[in-house]
Amino acid sequence: MNSKQSTIAAIATPPGDGGVAIIRLSGSEAVAFANPIFSKNILQFESHKLYLGSILNSDQTVLDQGMLVVMKAPHSYTGEEVVEIHCHGGHFLSKKILKRVLDLGAQIAKPGEFTERAFLNGKMDLSQAEAVQTLISAKNDYALKSATEQLDGSLSKKIKTLQKDLIESAAVLEAWVDFPEEGIEYMSLQELTHALQSVQNEMKALIESYEHGRILHLGFTLCLVGKPNVGKSSLMNALLKKERALVTPIAGTTRDTLEEALLIEGISYRLIDTAGIRQTDELVEKMGIERASKSIQEADLILFVLDSSAPLTQEDKDLITKLKDQKVLVLWNKSDLKQVKQEEHPFKETLQISAQSGNGLDLLYRRIPELLMGELNLTDQIYLTEIRHKNALEEANKLLENVICGLQKEASPEWLTFDLKSCLRSLSSIIGMDITENILSSIFSKFCIGK
Ligand code: GDP
Repeated sequence: MNSKQSTIAAIATPPGDGGVAIIRLSGSEAVAFANPIFSKNILQFESHKLYLGSILNSDQTVLDQGMLVVMKAPHSYTGEEVVEIHCHGGHFLSKKILKRVLDLGAQIAKPGEFTERAFLNGKMDLSQAEAVQTLISAKNDYALKSATEQLDGSLSKKIKTLQKDLIESAAVLEAWVDFPEEGIEYMSLQELTHALQSVQNEMKALIESYEHGRILHLGFTLCLVGKPNVGKSSLMNALLKKERALVTPIAGTTRDTLEEALLIEGISYRLIDTAGIRQTDELVEKMGIERASKSIQEADLILFVLDSSAPLTQEDKDLITKLKDQKVLVLWNKSDLKQVKQEEHPFKETLQISAQSGNGLDLLYRRIPELLMGELNLTDQIYLTEIRHKNALEEANKLLENVICGLQKEASPEWLTFDLKSCLRSLSSIIGMDITENILSSIFSKFCIGK
C-alpha cells in the first residue's frame, strides 16, 4: 500500500466497561500521532514490545496508566506501522484517548478497515480476510474450527489447487490452437475432458458444502409449534434455563421476538417460539402469523408440542395437517398430569416430556442433535461459509460446464479457452486475486511444447 494512505485509529475492544481497552492505530504516521500522548519516547521503542507509561492529556496531565506497543511495518497485522495503546477498560476513558489521537491527525477507521488494509498489503488473501469476521462471530466449536482453518489458508490452498489444474488444461487448449498436431499428442480430448470433470467434481463438492457450512456457522433452526396453552413458552424457558450458562444472545434480536440461541453438543441452535407473536392486536397478529409460517417453513426441525393430558382438538388437527411435510418431533407435554389415550398422527418421532417437572428433557437434548446431526456428517473437509464464495464457485462451475460440453461438441479451442479463463477469474475472485493475461501467458509459456 502506498505510504500516503491515511493513518487510521479505532477502539479495538468492544464498547462498554471492562478490564482493558485497546486503541489501535495503523498507518505511516501511527507512531508520530501516538508519541505525544505517551510519557515515554515511543520512537525509540523496540517493535512488538509492551512498555508501561502514562497516557497524557493535551495539557500533559495524566489520563491513565497504560501500556503501549509499536509493531513496525511490515511485521504487523495490517502490514503498516501499528501502535496499540492498552488502557483501563472504561468506555469514556478509551473514547477520550481515541479522541486524542484523532485530534493529532489520525482518521477514524471504517468497520473492517484494518483487515482490509491487511488484505491490500498482501498480509492475507480475501478468503482469509473474510475468515477473520467468521472467526470473530463463531458461536460454536465447529464454526470456530472451520474459520480458523480458512484463516490459515485452507480454502485459498484448495482454490489454488483447482486453478493449477485448470491452468494446465487451459495450456493444452492453447497448445491446440497454436500447434494443433503436437497439442493433441500432449493430451487427448478424452484425457482433457476427464481432467476438467475431476476439477468440476471438486467444485461441486465445495458448493454443496455451503449448506453445512452455513449450519455450522449460523446453527440449526428449531421452531416450537403448538396451539395456545400446550406449554411452548414453558418448554422454551425450561430448555434455556437448563442451558443458561451456554445461552448466547442472537444479534439484533431480543427476548420479545421469542428467538433464543442454544448450544447443544457444540452446535448452535436458534430456538423460535411461534406462540407469543400472536398475543397482541390484529395487525400485529397478522404479521405475527405470517412470520410464524415463515419460521415453520425455514425450520430445520419443528418441535410440535401437544398436550398429553387432554384429547386433541380441531386446532391440533389443523396443525398436524399443516406440518405433515415438515421434519417434526412430536412432544407430548404435561406428562406429569393424568394422561389420556394418545391419538394417531403421521409423525414418526415422538417424546413424552414435562416442561414443568423437567421429565424427558434430557432425552430431548439427546434426540435433537441425533435427528439433525445425522444429516450434517461432519468431516475434515472444507466448508464454505460465505455466500460470495458459493456464488463465485457456481459461476465457475457453469463456465467449466460450457467448456466440457464444448469439448464434446468439438467447439473451437479459442472459445473454450475464453470460458476457461473466465472460470479461472471467477475462482480468483474468491481469494481476491485476478489472474491476468500476463500471469496466464507466463504459465502457458512453460508448457509450450518444445518451442
Ligand atoms: P403456551 O401458550 O403453549 O406457550 O403455553 P404455556 O407455556 O404458557 O403454558 C400454559 C399452561 O400450561 C401454564 O399454566 C403452564 O404452567 C402449564 N404447563 C406447561 N407445561 C406444563 C407441564 O409440563 N405440566 C403441567 N402440569 N403444566 C404445564
